[in-house]
Amino acid sequence: RRAVFAALKTVPPLSRDDHRVTVMVNAGLRDDVAAIELTGADGIGLFRTEFQFLVSATLPQRERQQRLYRDVLEQAGEKPVIFRTVDIGGDKALPYMRADDEAEENPAMGWRALRVALERNGLMKAQARALLEAAAGRTLNVMFPMVSEPWEFDEAQALFEAQRAWLAGRGRRLPGEIRYGAMLEVPALAESLDILLPKLDFLSIGTNDLTQFLFAADRAHPKLAERYDWLSPSILRFLRRVIGPVDAAGVDLCVCGEMGGRPLEAMALIGIGIDRLSITPAAVGPIKAMVRSLDVGGLRTVMADLLAQPPRDMRGTLGAWAAENGV
Ligand code: PEP
Ligand code: MG
Repeated sequence: RRAVFAALKTVPPLSRDDHRVTVMVNAGLRDDVAAIELTGADGIGLFRTEFQFLVSATLPQRERQQRLYRDVLEQAGEKPVIFRTVDIGGDKALPYMRADDEAEENPAMGWRALRVALERNGLMKAQARALLEAAAGRTLNVMFPMVSEPWEFDEAQALFEAQRAWLAGRGRRLPGEIRYGAMLEVPALAESLDILLPKLDFLSIGTNDLTQFLFAADRAHPKLAERYDWLSPSILRFLRRVIGPVDAAGVDLCVCGEMGGRPLEAMALIGIGIDRLSITPAAVGPIKAMVRSLDVGGLRTVMADLLAQPPRDMRGTLGAWAAENGV
């Protein structure tokens, strides 16, 4: 099977009825970028910049950040890279930067990601400058994690724009274009899409955090790992409800959580209207193979029926449909 997936490297994720799915990879370290070449992926849909912070003994200074981002962009070549600003704090605590003096009782719902970055904004300013300078002459795609309310996106974007103006005032070379995106990981944000969408170039659904918050089930708890299914009608209906307005606003939509890297889950996502996935590199081959065996038109009709009248065993039902239809 490995050989089969390797052979798929040079073929696009095109369905039987000519529907092109964009398949990108998630990355976080310099070496991960090679995955684009190895898998033939369409780019990096999620570059987790906090990895550099997590593997460093001391806070990575702006020059070190900038070098990493420049190397990543150079290696990615023509393919797009979406940089997510740091998602630290909470369970991704940095030994050299105590988030707080108090240990947190609920770190996943705590002082993390944009909540830290907007408050300790020296960190975010340094990162913004590093990204802006690294992407000089190119397109910079920047995405903010754990946006819970639209004003948080506004503040983060304003911080980047202020750094852009600062650099421009000093005659520095800047990105040709900056595209701004938000992650949908906090369910409340879905209720403010009408306010948020006009400001966005893209939205990326982080199903790892989103589903833990939808089900109030810790994503790292071993006892809960099997309890709720990513194919639950509640999750699929929630996501489907988001897709309509996002598409209508002309905002690019991607799913970048682990869910998209599993063939049956990815099939369900495509079935509700998702056309873009960013997944773990090892999953690219299996997902491409699944897409190439799929009739997307037929699947979308079936999914609409299944979500209107959900079967008790959605996974079993989708698995049986896949088997019957040669997926
Ligand atoms: C997510 O929450 O789905 C996500 C992609 O971000 P992370 O896994 O880094 O929290
Ligand atoms: Mg997340």
